[in-house]
Amino acid sequence: AAKAKGRNQHLVFTPALRTTLQDRWQITSRLRDAAALDQLVVHWQPVVHLATGDVRGCEALLRWQHPQRGLVGPEDFIPIAEEDGLIVPVTRWLLETTLTQAVTWAEAGLDLVVAVNVSAVHLSTGTLVDDVLGAVARTGVPPRRLVLELTETALARDSDRAAEQFAALRSQGVRLAIDDFGSGYSSLSSVASLPADVLKVDRTLVAGPLPARSATPDAVLAAVTALGRALDMRVLAEGIETPEQLARVRAVGCEYGQGHHLAPPLPADRFAALLAEGRRQTGHQRLP
Ligand code: C2E
Ligand code: MG
Ligand code: MG
Ligand code: MG
Repeated sequence: AAKAKGRNQHLVFTPALRTTLQDRWQITSRLRDAAALDQLVVHWQPVVHLATGDVRGCEALLRWQHPQRGLVGPEDFIPIAEEDGLIVPVTRWLLETTLTQAVTWAEAGLDLVVAVNVSAVHLSTGTLVDDVLGAVARTGVPPRRLVLELTETALARDSDRAAEQFAALRSQGVRLAIDDFGSGYSSLSSVASLPADVLKVDRTLVAGPLPARSATPDAVLAAVTALGRALDMRVLAEGIETPEQLARVRAVGCEYGQGHHLAPPLPADRFAALLAEGRRQTGHQRLP
């Protein structure tokens, strides 16, 4: 409401806002306990190589199993964890959890690359490189098996610093992905200057043509895909929800895909069961 009244207006401390802030404060203090109380859980979404249908990897997506509210999605608590710095220990826990899970899956014969989302706040603390390499060393997972995802918005905040840390991680073999590309204010030159391995095309570009430009429905999707390929990146389409969207992303040359039409994020046991069923049916590491 304050924003709607104009930029120069003071923030009006309405009862609704007060409630929101109190609510958020409670979420934060309870989130502190959550990490200790094992209320954080990870769901895993398959990453599919579109030409073969093979599952090549998965993305770790954080959820909070809240005693009263049920399963809370990351969009409802990550911004708060970022504000008070809790995102750093949470991400350390997540890296350890993800890499430990990767070891378990490797022992079960699954060949997977695991992706973890990293916050811009973590980049600015300066501990990211040590946190990542520490977890890699402790778990013994080959660094090539780990992809760190950062949104283009996070990268744009301090791109020199990001590039520095990326270079340090990459020299150790860790791979990097630019997440949600095409959803924010993309700077083509900063994308070109970042040593990233994967370009994740935002689901808004996958979702469909803008009505006003129906003569060239896939122009932007095709251009972004071509950009990624020209920069020698693997291009991954996010949020594939329908067979039509799958056909579109294939047609423009996206190499990898993720989305509910392929498979939703799943708890670890269901993820493994799905791949076991896929292997039983196809003889390959595929979805059933
Ligand atoms: P993201 O990294 O772009 O993750 C993809 C999001 O799209 C996930 O939402 C996933 O559940 C959702 N998704 C997957 N397939 C589909 C689909 O077909 N259609 C639609 N509409 N959505 C789909 P989720 O799990 O709610 O996560 C939202 C965002 O929260 C993530 O976006 C990521 O930026 C952030 N996030 C999640 N886990 C973490 C984490 O551990 N650390 C940090 N810093 N951020 C995280
Ligand atoms: Mg991501
Ligand atoms: Mg994304
Ligand atoms: Mg996102």
